[in-house]
Amino acid sequence: MLYLKTDEEIGLLRESNMLVSRTLAEIASILRPGITTLYLDQIAETFIRDNGAFPAFKGYGGFPNTLCTSVNDQVVHGIPSAYVLKEGDIVSVDCGVILNGWYGDSAYTFPVGEVSEEVKQLLDYTRASLEEGVKAAFAGNRIGDISSAVQTKAESGGFSVVRELVGHGLGRKLHEQPEVPNYGKRGSGPKMEKGLVICIEPMINAGKKETYQMNDGWTIKTADGKISAHFEYAVAVGRGEADVLTTFKFIEEVLNKM
Ligand code: MG
Ligand code: MG
Repeated sequence: MLYLKTDEEIGLLRESNMLVSRTLAEIASILRPGITTLYLDQIAETFIRDNGAFPAFKGYGGFPNTLCTSVNDQVVHGIPSAYVLKEGDIVSVDCGVILNGWYGDSAYTFPVGEVSEEVKQLLDYTRASLEEGVKAAFAGNRIGDISSAVQTKAESGGFSVVRELVGHGLGRKLHEQPEVPNYGKRGSGPKMEKGLVICIEPMINAGKKETYQMNDGWTIKTADGKISAHFEYAVAVGRGEADVLTTFKFIEEVLNKM
C-alpha cells in the first residue's frame, strides 16, 4: 500500500524535514576534532525539543539516542558514544524528528577537520548519487529508475553500493512502503505517483559492498574495514520532478563560514 500525500500533508512533511535540516546545521556548527559523538547527540536532542518536536529515533525499536552517528567504517545506525572524533574522520549523522505527527528523516556525512582526497571523492560521489536518484523521482517513473541512477553514479567512481539497507516511504510513520534500494534495474519496481513521499539514502562504500552488524545489535560496518558514506533526502514525487523536502543549504552555509 503506497500512501499518497495531499499538498497540505506534504507541507507538514516539509516542516518536519526542514527541522531535521536545521538540526544537522547545528551539528555542523559544533563539529570539530576533539568532541564526542554523544555530545553531538545531546545538542541535537535539545535543539529538536526546543523546536516543539520529538526525536524520532529515540526508542524506535529500542534505539537509545536521538542521532545515528556512524564513524569511518560504520555504515549506518552507529550509537552515539564517548568516542572522540579526530582529524580525518568522517561521521554520518542521521537524524529523525516527529513534528505535528509527521516524520522528518535526513542524513549528512561530515568530514572532521581536513580529510584526504580519497575521502573527499567518496563523499562527493555519494552525494552526487543521491542527486542522481532525486532526478529520477517523478510520477510515471518506477522505484528501480531511482535505484539504477544511484547505483550507476556510485559505481562510476569505483565505489560500491550497500545492499542490506534501503530507503523507504515517509509520512506518519518513519518507515512506510515502498522500499527504495540503492541498486537495481531501470523500469523495475513500483510505479511512482504524485504525492508519494520517500527517503532516498545511498550508503556507499569505498571498498567492497559487504557489511555486517556489530553485536550492539545496531551498528552496521563494512566487512573490509574501509570507510562508508551516507546522505539522505526526503522527497515528494511530483509531475516531471521531485520536490526535495530536505535541504543541505543550512549545513553548507555553516561549513562555508569555517
Ligand atoms: Mg535517516
Ligand atoms: Mg531513512
